[in-house]
Amino acid sequence: MNDSDSANSANQQIERVVIVGGGTAGWMAATAFSRFLANGRRQIHLVESDAIGTVGVGEATIPPILNFNGMLDLNENEFLRETQGTIKLGIEFVNWGKLGDRYIHPFGFYGHDIHGIAFYQLWLREHGRGNPGYISDYCMSAVAAEGGKFGRPSQKSRPPVSEMLYAFHFDATLYARYLRERSEKQGVIRHEGRIVQVHREPESGYVTSVELESGEKIEGDLFIDCSGFRALLIGETLGVGYEDWSHWLPVDRAIPVPTKNVGPPDPFTRSTAHGAGWQWRIPLQHRTGNGHVYCSQFIGDDEAEAVLMANLEGEAMADRRVIRFTTGRRKLSWSHNVVALGLSSGFLEPLESTSIHLIQNGIQRLLALFPNRQISPVERDEYNRGMQELYEDVRDFIVLHYKLTQRDDTPFWRYVREMEVSDALKRKMELWRLHGRIFREGAELFGTTSWVAVTLGQNMWPERYDPIVDSLDEVKVAAAIAELRERYRQAAAALPMQEEFLRMAGAWAAQDVRPQMATAP
Ligand SMILES: Cc1cc2nc3c(=O)[nH]c(=O)nc-3n(C[C@H](O)[C@H](O)[C@H](O)COP(=O)(O)OP(=O)(O)OC[C@H]3O[C@@H](n4cnc5c(N)ncnc54)[C@H](O)[C@@H]3O)c2cc1C
Repeated sequence: MNDSDSANSANQQIERVVIVGGGTAGWMAATAFSRFLANGRRQIHLVESDAIGTVGVGEATIPPILNFNGMLDLNENEFLRETQGTIKLGIEFVNWGKLGDRYIHPFGFYGHDIHGIAFYQLWLREHGRGNPGYISDYCMSAVAAEGGKFGRPSQKSRPPVSEMLYAFHFDATLYARYLRERSEKQGVIRHEGRIVQVHREPESGYVTSVELESGEKIEGDLFIDCSGFRALLIGETLGVGYEDWSHWLPVDRAIPVPTKNVGPPDPFTRSTAHGAGWQWRIPLQHRTGNGHVYCSQFIGDDEAEAVLMANLEGEAMADRRVIRFTTGRRKLSWSHNVVALGLSSGFLEPLESTSIHLIQNGIQRLLALFPNRQISPVERDEYNRGMQELYEDVRDFIVLHYKLTQRDDTPFWRYVREMEVSDALKRKMELWRLHGRIFREGAELFGTTSWVAVTLGQNMWPERYDPIVDSLDEVKVAAAIAELRERYRQAAAALPMQEEFLRMAGAWAAQDVRPQMATAP
């Protein structure tokens, strides 16, 4: 490369990235981009409107967030303190298979494979001949969650504690505030005001600037649409259509309500199925987040609110607010020089807490495919292909929860159990039904543990275990299984309760009003 080549390539570089929106998506993007892209020449701008505000929900995550926090070099204890966060070891599902059922979808793994044979297959055979208990008895995160326990696995931890996988619950508003502080320290330039006009280059259709009510124009080479459900750039300006998935995921409204805590926080999210949807419970340090997600075709807002209020554990701390949405995704996540992240790029109901992960994944994918000013269609198409695959996989896994129900007590449950599902999901369900086989395809987010948890938790047992299991001696395997169960039980018993852990770690926020528990020196 000679001097003029390198000068040309420098001229081709994107110099101004403009993020439109300051919700979870906007500030996650701002923190990551300012850490990896602000090279002295390149500037990162973020525009948000206090008058419009943010959606203000989205408080449960999944384990890949550890990787995102690592990328951003966040101190985990500080992060938990600043966001009034707690540990999440999985999701407890109540009333999903049948009324009265409950199961846990934990993070992590079930047991240990023997000679390459999946542990859950060994457990399935043992279940047919003995009494090995629940499959969740063999997952460190599940056993700890059941007991309300937590201990952070470190490089020094030994099995089975080292097998514990976790994520977080946090206050969405505090999370955005925390990331904003970091972003601004890393050089992000924040603009406050409502965008009233978007300017485009006539020939290419590329967005060139956004204009605020004040008349201020913010110019950029690459725009990140984090404007929420409104999809100001990708939808309203560029006209990228929306693929409606409500025939598979018919819930379309949510009423969130925070409540006062009634006890120490559990280290898991709870999802309780009701007549036309389900209710979340997310325990934080300073309050509990709750909400009823429901289908307006089957229940009105007043009744949905009444169901929610009747099923709260603590005193409600806010008035009713109804959030409306259509499940689905933007047909392209990246069009022209606009990349959509967060609610502007699609929405899958929060049953498996995947939206923040989709934002994180979009950010990481964009960093991996970061373009020049002359955006290559190859890089843009690759981004869109990957995001489409991820959205569809997550969608099918959420649909599985509905499709597997045996409930027929309301028209809503009768609809979802009878609905047609995608061919990919049908094929996976059939493979499971025959011999309990699970094949993780490509970069699929939900793997073996997730499939085993949800199918067994909702009473879909395979017709037979994998015949390869019979190559192992029944009696020896039974003894190994029993020993393993006891090891998980003992390991969990030795862990502190999660609140105690957070206090000992210095991860408990100072402004606590409840009586202090004993803390370690
Ligand atoms: C009921 C519900 C529960 C959820 N639970 C979870 C969960 O448990 N886990 C999870 O991972 N996800 C969850 N989500 C999803 C999660 O809330 C979102 O993915 C996340 O909050 C990202 O939102 P956002 O930043 O895209 O949009 P928003 O928070 O809506 O932010 C939009 C931003 O754009 C700005 N803006 C819009 N228009 C303009 C304009 N004209 N001018 C200037 N600024 C503008 C706004 O001011 C705001 O700053 C949930 C969502 C819902 C609806």
